[in-house]
Amino acid sequence: MSGTEDQGRASGGGDGTRAVRAGLPEPVAYEPTLPGPVFAAHFHLPGEPTGPYTYGRDENPTWTHLERAIGELEAPGEDGVETLVFASGMAATSSVLFSQLRAGDTVVLPSDGYQALPLVRAQLEAYGIEVRTAPTGGDAQLGVLDGAKLLWIETPSNPGLDVCDIRRLVEAAHAGGALVAVDNTLATPLGQRPLELGADFSVASGTKQLTGHGDVLLGYVSGRDAEAMAAVRRWRKIVGAIPGPMEAWLAHRSLATLQLRVERQNATALALAEALRDRPEELGVRYPGLPGDPSHKIAARQMRRYGCVVSFTLPTRARAERFLESLRLVDDATSFGGVRSTAERRGRWGGDAVPEGFIRMSVGAEDPEDLVADVLRALDESDR
Ligand SMILES: *Cc1c(COP(=O)(O)O)cnc(C)c1O
Repeated sequence: MSGTEDQGRASGGGDGTRAVRAGLPEPVAYEPTLPGPVFAAHFHLPGEPTGPYTYGRDENPTWTHLERAIGELEAPGEDGVETLVFASGMAATSSVLFSQLRAGDTVVLPSDGYQALPLVRAQLEAYGIEVRTAPTGGDAQLGVLDGAKLLWIETPSNPGLDVCDIRRLVEAAHAGGALVAVDNTLATPLGQRPLELGADFSVASGTKQLTGHGDVLLGYVSGRDAEAMAAVRRWRKIVGAIPGPMEAWLAHRSLATLQLRVERQNATALALAEALRDRPEELGVRYPGLPGDPSHKIAARQMRRYGCVVSFTLPTRARAERFLESLRLVDDATSFGGVRSTAERRGRWGGDAVPEGFIRMSVGAEDPEDLVADVLRALDESDR
């Protein structure tokens, strides 16, 4: 399983080159470039069970290729980074939190992070773990770090699109002996590399822009600390939160177009954010890549690309609902990162501290002029 047999790493180069080759095995005559999914609950296993492939809940060759690929994107050219894939982003998130924390420990979570974090918080507290929260913006988590064992960062935050200074938070956390995990879902590894910024874990949902077609649930954890990663691996084994081989293979296949999708979607997201900013009415548009956005200064220092999610606020719930109904090229759906644009009134779920008219929009791979025109038309039509 050494990195040397891995073409993506050997080829170096830019993000597009890396994405198309990431995790591919050495060419074998008359074998496919990307080996197909290996469907196996068990493997032939004579004698001592030394592996690498013994039982399908522990390891699978299709995961191995995908894990190498994601590792190359999260930490290009770096040896010693281990990646583990999971059944979903929440499986990956839970694996880090529940494998690293014990009763009596303290963890710091964002107060404005992913929707399921409050559920996780309740479970952590039920196990006797103290949970503190603070907002992402203004690096406010610094204020509640004292004595913590683990700091969980989500930047840019979903759905508020606030950004915190990863390096600054890592420095403070490490000084106090805490590990740091960064939820890298929104940025993708092409947008941000938390391990290079000092984090101990980069954790993400691969369900979103990483795989980008809205047809796969996946999660992963990348980390450099062998002991910490061994605990995460053990958690995956005992909980069994494993991706199916077909999902893992589809995800790997999707990585080949990651750079293309990200470039297109993110460029259109910026164009849309600019068009919304230039409207006569005040929409409170947020996009970390928009100069002047409260997140932009720190984002520009630590991000290479700014994501495909744009948010803005319509005056009322009714207006937001009319707007969503008026859209023709944008599906009213949750999640984000897919090649087909989606938007939703985020307040319909409850739980996020957002106004009733808050719209979270995920920009897809449509032609930018078509998409921007559709959104501006729907804004006009819903203004009755
Ligand atoms: C979607 C999401 C998750 C959870 O991922 P699933 O694949 O749905 O389990 C975690 N964090 C963020 C920021 C997300 O957007």
